[in-house]
Amino acid sequence: MDNFISDLPFIKLPTEKQKILIVDDDTSILDLLDHFLQRKGFDCKCAENGKKALELLEASPFTIVITDLIMPQIDGMELLKIVKESWPDTDVIVMTGYTKNFTYTDVIRAGASDFVQKPFTLDEIEAKLQRLIKERQLRHTLKRLSVRDGLTDLFNRRFFDHKLKEEVTRALRQKYPLYLLLLDIDKFKEVNDMQGHQEGDKVLVTLADTLKSSTRDHVDLLFRFGGDEFAVLIPYASEDQAVAIAERIRSNFLNKVSSDVTISMGLAKIDPSLKDPEKTKKKLFLDADEALYSAKKDGGNKLVIKGSHTTKD
Ligand code: GH3
Ligand code: MG
Repeated sequence: MDNFISDLPFIKLPTEKQKILIVDDDTSILDLLDHFLQRKGFDCKCAENGKKALELLEASPFTIVITDLIMPQIDGMELLKIVKESWPDTDVIVMTGYTKNFTYTDVIRAGASDFVQKPFTLDEIEAKLQRLIKERQLRHTLKRLSVRDGLTDLFNRRFFDHKLKEEVTRALRQKYPLYLLLLDIDKFKEVNDMQGHQEGDKVLVTLADTLKSSTRDHVDLLFRFGGDEFAVLIPYASEDQAVAIAERIRSNFLNKVSSDVTISMGLAKIDPSLKDPEKTKKKLFLDADEALYSAKKDGGNKLVIKGSHTTKD
């Protein structure tokens, strides 16, 4: 699988800067590893015990923790459990001289990514680290591929279903408004037929770029469902703000596309009176879909807001 992904020419493995935390009550081991890893170009920090390690982790996350097992107060096994609970993306390599206390299986089951037996060689540490770094890259790539649409790099439909539930649940619990905007390009088949599929693809990418530039970074969530259908989840917004975002998308898109391609949009707000997240989620989607359908039926190139009897064109 490793070769399979890295051999695909269109898949670029991400390069992540590794931050390594070394934890051991034996300071000679700390010094040895620290010097070696710094020399290899890694960004390293040292902790002489589990408590100090947690303080450093709280201050700024690490990608990899290399920890001894037998230490006073918080031992390596406990530290491993806390790290996997609080920083699940951090990989942990456990090293120990007392293999009788815990077996390889014990530490791997507890969430460690690897195990080094003392005394170890520095070559061994380096080889294990390199393998782990490659695994991290593959993991991140796979994660990205599973939630993103290949053409536009927006989130895909599968991730929408997951995210919609998460966002609706949070909006209900924290009592803030959440809007769903559905978008569909008008007569997109004609764009493909008249200008070719490649030009059609460019229009899809232009709409995706317009969504990115017209919405709030790290707040609004952008999706391509497939075909010419897109969605935006808009949390923490009043109706005026949600409408302004939708209108900004529409006018920016019209300014960007050379041909006279237009979009229809349906906007809906969650109904907190339903309380149940599953029902609320379904209703929100149905409402936005109904509004989009009305926009299409009314000739397209407009925004319809569910429930407010308002259309904007
Ligand atoms: P309407 O105005 O009712 O929205 O009709 P429409 O012509 O836009 O057609 P519809 O939304 O039903 O269909 C979308 C078309 O998008 C159908 C398909 O040929 C085309 N399509 C789907 N995926 C892609 C793609 O990745 N690239 C391109 N260029 N076209 C695609
Ligand atoms: Mg369409």
